[in-house]
Amino acid sequence: MHAKLIQLQSHLKTSSLTKLDFPILKQHQIELWLKRDDLIDPVISGNKWRKLKYILNHALNMQVDTIISMGGAYSNHLHALAYAGHKLGLKTRGIIRGERPAVLNPSLLDMINWGMELEFVSRAEFRRFRNYKHYQSLPGIQASQYWLPEGGSTRLALRGVAELVDEINGDYDYITVPCGTGTTLAGIVKSIRPGTKAIGFSALKGGGFLTDDVIKLTDSPLENWHINIDYHFGGFAKTTEELLAFINQFQQQSGIILEPVYTGKMLYAVFDLIEKQYFQPGSKIIAIHTGGLQGKRGFNSKFLKT
Ligand SMILES: *Cc1c(COP(=O)(O)O)cnc(C)c1O
Repeated sequence: MHAKLIQLQSHLKTSSLTKLDFPILKQHQIELWLKRDDLIDPVISGNKWRKLKYILNHALNMQVDTIISMGGAYSNHLHALAYAGHKLGLKTRGIIRGERPAVLNPSLLDMINWGMELEFVSRAEFRRFRNYKHYQSLPGIQASQYWLPEGGSTRLALRGVAELVDEINGDYDYITVPCGTGTTLAGIVKSIRPGTKAIGFSALKGGGFLTDDVIKLTDSPLENWHINIDYHFGGFAKTTEELLAFINQFQQQSGIILEPVYTGKMLYAVFDLIEKQYFQPGSKIIAIHTGGLQGKRGFNSKFLKT
């Protein structure tokens, strides 16, 4: 690994496993553990560090000076990339979906403060950027620049996610994870042991296409994994009273903070499926807390103080 990346990694915390204790778990004889990737770092948190690690290493070794990527106005991916770029001495540029807002939100302000150059593009234009998958494939890109697709969705990302799986000791039956682009799930699918199942939960409505994306990234047929698309709560970053109530209650009982875009929906789904007896009694589930708590700032008024 590049010396600068080793230096950055030395400041990160380890991700532990927390066993959850809720009456419904005892009742259905389910062991539910949270893999606390949210603890890794407040900014490069959770799956964003996992996905970026070997991409940043590649970019540093290629001696590029700029990484260009894309995302929404609250993107945890761009937020983490801007911070990492700042720490590693790499310039960053973020292509943001939609018009420049009159007042920039806290996530965008952080990105600017860490030196990221922001470019706001129309939704149609934004979709076009999704066609470019290879790090040199962006039209007009220079040799000193590195293109990173939305959500860091590349094969190099899978290697970092595999380290998350390798850190989990002992036997378990399921790994569950929220899906935005499905890249984190793809990394898990690539690295889980035979006999273990992985379930991704789509954070967006109409997430059917995610299955194809994960198959493309992994070359793994749908044998021991699938994506559940039933718990989107109206669409990406949409919430309902029920979801918010679940998150508030979860936070108060466990002392662990969730956000409503990804981890809140995934854990709502896991508890709901437990109640519906989807999992055999005696099953052990590892749910990945993918972090991303900075993105919660757009929703703060909806949550109880913890
Ligand atoms: C970005 C993000 C995801 C989605 O990850 P993908 O690899 O794009 O599926 C899930 N959870 C959190 C907290 C995130 O920030």
